[in-house]
Amino acid sequence: MRIGCGYDSHRFMPGDHVMLGGVKIPFTQGVAAHSDGDVLLHAIVDALLGAAALGDIGQHFPDTDPRYAGFSSSDFLREVMDLLQAQHYRVGNVDATVILELPKLNPRIQAIREHLANLLSVSMTQVSVKATTNEKMGFIGRGEGIAAMSVVTLISD
Ligand code: MG
Repeated sequence: MRIGCGYDSHRFMPGDHVMLGGVKIPFTQGVAAHSDGDVLLHAIVDALLGAAALGDIGQHFPDTDPRYAGFSSSDFLREVMDLLQAQHYRVGNVDATVILELPKLNPRIQAIREHLANLLSVSMTQVSVKATTNEKMGFIGRGEGIAAMSVVTLISD
């Protein structure tokens, strides 16, 4: 069994939704990013790559590459799952925390878990997503951006 961790953050910008775990959440702002700026998926992709010692998301999907402009982060995860399957890894479990003041995530957590479980080819009982605020401290507390961290286990078959 192998363990990986991942972290990502993005800045808010004018917009009308954020993508989190592949789920579109209406909000009064958007996220500045080359791709769709899904911090949760980016943290999970980095954790998966880290568990397999396969580098990081920036190496696989450079933000200087026009191919990835506006790219769906669910597709980043699909590509990484293909890499892992080629190396005979499957996902054991995922635990993730999204750190944000707003929007409130609780009503969306089940939908996010379901989407992630599909992408990762596991059951929802293997996918945990939590949300916390930063108690109004720092850039997240001031509502300037959003962050996520994730831990995953991979099982080698
Ligand atoms: Mg990112």
